[in-house]
Amino acid sequence: MPDKKKLIDTLEIQRTLTREEFIHLLTGFTEEDAEYLREKAVKTAKQYFDNKVYTRGLIEFTNNCKNDCYYCGIRKSNTNVTRYRLTKEDILECCKEGYGLGFRTFVLQGGEDLRYSDDDMADIILTMKANYPDCAITLSIGEKSYKSYLTYFKAGADRYLLRHETANKEHYEKLHPASLSLENRKQCLRNLKEIGYQVGTGFMVGSPYQTAEHLAEDLLFIKELSPAMIGIGPYLPHHDTPFADREKGSMDLTLYLISILRLMIPNALIPATTALGTIHPLGREKGVLSGANVVMPNLSPVTVRKKYELYDNKICTGDEAAECRVCLQNRMKKVGYEIISARGDFVPMED
Ligand code: SAM
Repeated sequence: MPDKKKLIDTLEIQRTLTREEFIHLLTGFTEEDAEYLREKAVKTAKQYFDNKVYTRGLIEFTNNCKNDCYYCGIRKSNTNVTRYRLTKEDILECCKEGYGLGFRTFVLQGGEDLRYSDDDMADIILTMKANYPDCAITLSIGEKSYKSYLTYFKAGADRYLLRHETANKEHYEKLHPASLSLENRKQCLRNLKEIGYQVGTGFMVGSPYQTAEHLAEDLLFIKELSPAMIGIGPYLPHHDTPFADREKGSMDLTLYLISILRLMIPNALIPATTALGTIHPLGREKGVLSGANVVMPNLSPVTVRKKYELYDNKICTGDEAAECRVCLQNRMKKVGYEIISARGDFVPMED
């Protein structure tokens, strides 16, 4: 197997590697390897996005969920969660504030909450679009039928985030109850693409039982799907889940993977996630300095922030939306990047 720097050179040219090569790249890398990769990733990101960082206003509108993912703090079986739902009016209030702060993308994220019918979602989306026609709407509400996805799209939703979580069937089954399957998750992603959404996928780094082989499969799956957005962040334990005692993921490996993903899909929108900011005070800055180009500050009302606790010690649960925006703006400026207001749609490559 060639040394890691040679593999990184190959990755930069070919935009992919074989499964075995990815496994080698991910196993036992040195700080020097990571720095070599990071520099290439940053150079690539700058070619496509200069020093600009897109921003998305995240509205966590419900923490009710019918699913029981073993890693997630808002899983159905966690009876210690105080459940909440935002009304359409609450959501519009978040948008109003966000619009004033310069956000031109709103992300509606939540657990899989059956209380919002497809008609309810369509009504919310239609009203958001009518009030803010220059804004993009991203949904992140889990696995739905083709028909439901089509309904939301026709109402005006532009993008959809659905992490595949892991591309390995056995690993998927260790993270989820039998009611959920990797096959359905993948089918949902294919459906979303077919309908015409800008699709985002991704995975947690260091989730329980994860191996380098699994990560190589994640990378190959992402290459094949060719998504517009790729969200990855370290796995972080939540005290009220079956995985409460599991080790958290590694920040360095997450950053290394962000750089790999940047070289694989140079024009992708890759967020420096909240989980990255939670694992290290400068995690999001490091994310951008490894090739990420999106940040997603929270626009949810402060009264509900702490209730959307996917993992312990989640950051920014006490700050007003405006504070989050200014804070991130300053943080990015400090490392030489500029937060911009543009919608930041995915621009396909010419070749
Ligand atoms: N229900 C929707 C779905 O399944 O896509 C969206 C909400 S879900 C809570 C959003 C993401 O949070 C998941 O895709 C998962 O990767 C991440 N997440 C959940 N628990 C986590 C944990 N303990 N550590 C890090 N990320 C976590």
